[in-house]
Amino acid sequence: MDKNCVFCRIIAGEIPSQKVFEDEDMLIIKDINPNAPVHLLLLPKEHYANIIDMTEAQSQNLARCIKKLSTIVDDLGLEDGFRLVSNKGENGCQSVEHLHIHILGGERLPEKLA
Ligand code: AMP
Ligand code: ZN
Repeated sequence: MDKNCVFCRIIAGEIPSQKVFEDEDMLIIKDINPNAPVHLLLLPKEHYANIIDMTEAQSQNLARCIKKLSTIVDDLGLEDGFRLVSNKGENGCQSVEHLHIHILGGERLPEKLA
């Protein structure tokens, strides 16, 4: 836990959030400033900044978190599809240095960048 990290503090329950899913590996919350009708953030519970800094064990944990999405997409209103985004660094416009995956959906999304 990094006490200067807003997502660690959310995971610890020190800052309120709208939780939609939680298990031993991750928390999924509603983004405070949504860019789509459904805009969620998948937060691994362990603090690391991004996929470049993550260890092999953390990458396996992240893969497990993403795989678990398959069991909850319908409950999250994402049955018609969704987009996963993880911003990294300055050009990626990352603003919180705790790895997170944006989950966007609930409508047909704007034309993709990639
Ligand atoms: P990024 O810019 O990719 O690092 O994404 C950070 C995201 O976290 C942004 O979409 C913010 O709206 C969101 N965010 C920041 N603080 C909070 C918070 N306290 N609760 C929920 N979402 C947050
Ligand atoms: Zn953190």
